[in-house]
Amino acid sequence: MLIPCPHCGPREVSEFTYIGDATKVRPAPDASADAWSDFVHARRNPRGRHAEHWQHTAGCRAIVRVTRDTVTHAVYGASLAGPWGEGEAR
Ligand SMILES: [Zn+2]
Repeated sequence: MLIPCPHCGPREVSEFTYIGDATKVRPAPDASADAWSDFVHARRNPRGRHAEHWQHTAGCRAIVRVTRDTVTHAVYGASLAGPWGEGEAR
């Protein structure tokens, strides 16, 4: 599987470290204990297209938001995570 790092271009997945689900939304600081427990501990195991955070640990060390299919491992694109992300590298 190749991940298109926005800084380095397409690289093998072995250069990256999986960080986690990119669709989780951090609750407000005063949110309930259940909301925080869900944010910290609960994980879905989606089938199909999904957004994930990966870090290019053997390269530029950027944290990248990758959209891929969890069944076929097809990668649809990647962008820098957080406010630096603009568009997706393919
Ligand atoms: Zn990189």
